[in-house]
Amino acid sequence: MRLLILVSLALTAWLSVASPSHALEAVEVPASSDAIDLTRAVELYPNSGPSLQVSTAPGADGIVRRIEVNSLDDANSSWAVFALSNPGDEQIDRLIVAPFFQLVGSRLVWPDLGSSRIASITPSQGIAPERQSSQEADVFLVTLDPGAVVTYVVELRSPSLPQIRLWEPDVYKDTVNAYTLYRGIILGISGLLALFLTILFVVKGTIMFPATAVLAWSVLSYLTIDFGFWNKVLQITPGDEQLYRACAEVGLAASLIIFLYAYLNLNRWHIRYSHLALATLILVLGLLGVAVWDPSVAAGIARISLGIIGVLGFAVIATLAVQGYDRAIMLVPTWVLLLAWLTGAAMTVTGILANDIVQPALAGGLVLVVLLIGFTVMQHAFAGGAIAQGLISDVERRALAFTGSGDIVWDWDIDRDRISTGHEVEDLLGLKPGVLEGPARDWLDVIHPQDRDTFRSTLDAVIDLRRGRVSQAFRLRSEDGHYRWFRLRARPIVGSDGEVIRCVGSLLDITEQKVTEERLLHDAVHDNLTGLPNRELFMDRLSAALARSRAEGLGRPSVIVFDLDRFKQVNDSIGLSAGDSILLTIARRVSRQLKPQDALMRLGSDTYALVLLSEQSADRIAAFADAVRRAVRSPITFGEQEVFLTASVGIAIPDSNPVESDELLRQADMAMNHAKRMGGDRVEVFRPTLQTTGSNRMELEADLRKALQTDGISVHFQPIVRLADRSIAGFEVLARWNHPKRGPISPSEFIPIAEQSGLINELGLFVLDRGARQLSEWQAAYRLPVPLFVSVNISSLQLLRHDLINDVKSVLSRSSLAPGTLKLELTESVVMANPEYSARMLERLRHLGAGLSLDDFGTGYSSLSYLQRFRFDTIKVDQSFVRPNGRSARPVILRSIVALGHDLGMQVVAEGAESESDALELHQLGCEFAQGFLFGQPMEVSEAGKMLDAEMETLRN
Ligand code: C2E
Ligand code: CA
Ligand code: CA
Repeated sequence: MRLLILVSLALTAWLSVASPSHALEAVEVPASSDAIDLTRAVELYPNSGPSLQVSTAPGADGIVRRIEVNSLDDANSSWAVFALSNPGDEQIDRLIVAPFFQLVGSRLVWPDLGSSRIASITPSQGIAPERQSSQEADVFLVTLDPGAVVTYVVELRSPSLPQIRLWEPDVYKDTVNAYTLYRGIILGISGLLALFLTILFVVKGTIMFPATAVLAWSVLSYLTIDFGFWNKVLQITPGDEQLYRACAEVGLAASLIIFLYAYLNLNRWHIRYSHLALATLILVLGLLGVAVWDPSVAAGIARISLGIIGVLGFAVIATLAVQGYDRAIMLVPTWVLLLAWLTGAAMTVTGILANDIVQPALAGGLVLVVLLIGFTVMQHAFAGGAIAQGLISDVERRALAFTGSGDIVWDWDIDRDRISTGHEVEDLLGLKPGVLEGPARDWLDVIHPQDRDTFRSTLDAVIDLRRGRVSQAFRLRSEDGHYRWFRLRARPIVGSDGEVIRCVGSLLDITEQKVTEERLLHDAVHDNLTGLPNRELFMDRLSAALARSRAEGLGRPSVIVFDLDRFKQVNDSIGLSAGDSILLTIARRVSRQLKPQDALMRLGSDTYALVLLSEQSADRIAAFADAVRRAVRSPITFGEQEVFLTASVGIAIPDSNPVESDELLRQADMAMNHAKRMGGDRVEVFRPTLQTTGSNRMELEADLRKALQTDGISVHFQPIVRLADRSIAGFEVLARWNHPKRGPISPSEFIPIAEQSGLINELGLFVLDRGARQLSEWQAAYRLPVPLFVSVNISSLQLLRHDLINDVKSVLSRSSLAPGTLKLELTESVVMANPEYSARMLERLRHLGAGLSLDDFGTGYSSLSYLQRFRFDTIKVDQSFVRPNGRSARPVILRSIVALGHDLGMQVVAEGAESESDALELHQLGCEFAQGFLFGQPMEVSEAGKMLDAEMETLRN
């Protein structure tokens, strides 16, 4: 036996060399000590099997012994070993206390939620310590004999032992009692608070109160669990309330979210907040499920969420407070306290803050936070008086509504004739206070003259009728002379005598509304880029102008349409916004040229149209159109670059026949399109020949080209006779096209196509050649007293070509003709568009020996002054002057044209003589030649030959 002890001694010595901690040292327990913390003196053997063998602390004799203790239930137990010594000479009693739960150092993640700690204590000698009953700790009573050194082997119920202390029994009892009192107070306060907030909720229906009550209740439940309250009430195994503790912590986190959401009314700010809050709430409540499975995990998550809610909540509160939301501002101090509490709690659970009072202090802090929240909420509950509590009468509600609507009270005391109205009106108008407080007639001075009568009569009517309602808008003049719009809505109040005693209602400033209305009206009829009238308004003005000119015989409106050439390219190269500003510039430039009675509008993207009333004569209108063209031509500076633009301008001048406004616009548009086809940057006047249907144009153009190559084009001759003796003086050569499919096509249709496609030169030469050949044949065959002539139509495009001179020269040289008998018919428009150039060309043609005839005289815009300037030898008066159309002035005009022509040494041919009476009248007017269906339709050569044969016959007789 001795040997065995020795062996074990040696072993211990060896072991103590290897691991000094194994030299178990006894903790001295002086008789005077109140509490000794054994936590650090304890050696732990976590999960060390069903039995533990340890060496005891050396006793007074210095002997170390080995003892073995077996687990009570043979499990893989954890063990703790410590030794106590009584150095005094008295027997002492002490309590070994290991609390079930310890907040300090319980960890944030995977927290230790407490449990029963000690299963049993086996002493190395003496009587086993006796378990004392306690709800919150394992308490054992030990008795230490004087001088004894006892080693205690403790079988643990959990692998850890957060705290173990040795208490003097009386001191322990006092401490527990003291804490119980404190806890009682805290629980009392928090219970009352929860109850109070719940009652408040019952009284007032605002969501804020139940949310706060929930928070208070969850704090209360947390505290009751923390204080071991339930253990006292219910029969819960001591140290087994981890699940409840975890649930309480989860409840705390959840109720904090609910409170924050409800108090800040987050659903009002953004639906996002609602989603966020709901998601968090579901997550947190989901933790309750987790708690059942593993309370520690749930509590860990709840603790972390509490921290996150604290921080995020602060961010939300701060943001809303900065925005001036007063609920958020009021919550700031409370939340700061909450953050401080959370920090303290975090420091406690992580063990940074470790002392005895921190756990109860945190409990107290929590109650304080809820108390503060309660106060904040109550402040809202009781601030605002009766109105905030929703206890208002109907009259009050109406008064409040009126204030809310921002209308001004308007009250007219009819007996005293005194209008009272808020100072708002005077402020709005900048008038001196009191100007509008007085008799109703004072108002008339301020009301717009146009609104005075209605104002007066409306008020009179209400008084007379004793019923009805005033709803009237009128303008009041402000100090600076501007008018503001107001709407008065009032109704009469009838007194007991049946008379109207007052008229009360509201006055509302509707200036903005009126301005918007006007703006809308303007936008509806104006182009919003240039502010010019849009198509509707323009057509309206044009129709009005046309109607007026018809009715009153005033000036007739002409229409000018102009379109920018190649604007799309410009737009593409300098950008859309630059393009817009160019359109605006051009609109401004052209607007400057207008007289008040004229109107400009934007038809389409880069097309403008204007109604011209300020100019009436054709040449002034043309000059105006040219000024428009030049206005567009001058360069537009845009940033660093200069943009050069040109416009194609079309003019439509209504003739005496009634014309619709859209027809006139269409004509101008056609003229403009023609100008565009001619290369742009030019002015064209509408003439009926421009009227070609666009759809089959391309087709016709191709057909015409073919016809010219395959002799599809022929010429007809229409006789021109001397009115004196009805003898044939000559023929007009007219082109004819018999289309293989469509039959005969009128020159009015195919000549414009020829002009636009450039085929006119070929066609013109063909007609010129055929005319000249035929004439030389006829001149040779029929020797008449005055040589026969033919006149050939020359398009303005032909004149613009230098080749015309050569063509005429070669045609003349091929056929020997009497001088001046090959006449060229030119229209006024040619000459007009380019007077200088035309004058030179005409002069050269005359030199070649060609006769010159001014065709369609009177239809265009040329004045008689052209007759002087260009030396034509014949004028052809247009059919519209010849054929009777009810115009009594016809003979007068015709007579003066004829007289003027003769004065200038010209011969006059009247076109379109269809009846004998026409011929007679023309003759009487002094006209010497006439052409028309009366004398012969345009005919084939053979027929013309027959006419000439007959002519010769009569000559011979
Ligand atoms: P224009 O030069 O004024 O030719 C006279 C037109 O009046 C011809 O129409 C003729 O048929 C028509 N006419 C003659 N007498 C009467 C009459 O008593 N009553 C009525 N209602 N009409 C009469 P057409 O042949 O259809 O030619 C139309 C226009 O086509 C011509 O007008 C002329 O401007 C152009 N045109 C015709 N042939 C040629 C041509 O070879 N070259 C060019 N450049 N233009 C031509
Ligand atoms: Ca002609
Ligand atoms: Ca003619």
